[in-house]
Amino acid sequence: MVASRSARERKAGVQAGPLARAKIDLDGEQQFLYRISCTTCVARGRTPWSTHRAGGDNGFMAAMDRWTFHLVEKHPGEDAPCLAFLAEAQQRLHERREQAPG
Ligand SMILES: [Zn+2]
Repeated sequence: MVASRSARERKAGVQAGPLARAKIDLDGEQQFLYRISCTTCVARGRTPWSTHRAGGDNGFMAAMDRWTFHLVEKHPGEDAPCLAFLAEAQQRLHERREQAPG
């Protein structure tokens, strides 16, 4: 049983922290499309930062990993629950790079 879209959206939002806006759309094949954007980068008039990834749990994980790296790079000192998984995110990034360059 897959959790509902709004429940997943809430979960993603909580995990991404106060700077993020998490949204889940459905793509043409009714797959979840995770989108996380940075409210701070938008507010400061920079190029709005956002990432989107399709898929269920994999998409969620990939989008959250990218968001975690954005937080660390651009907003050091900010706190968010997803930062607790930074080491795991880096490990996954490492593994992805080894599997498929680019
Ligand atoms: Zn940002």
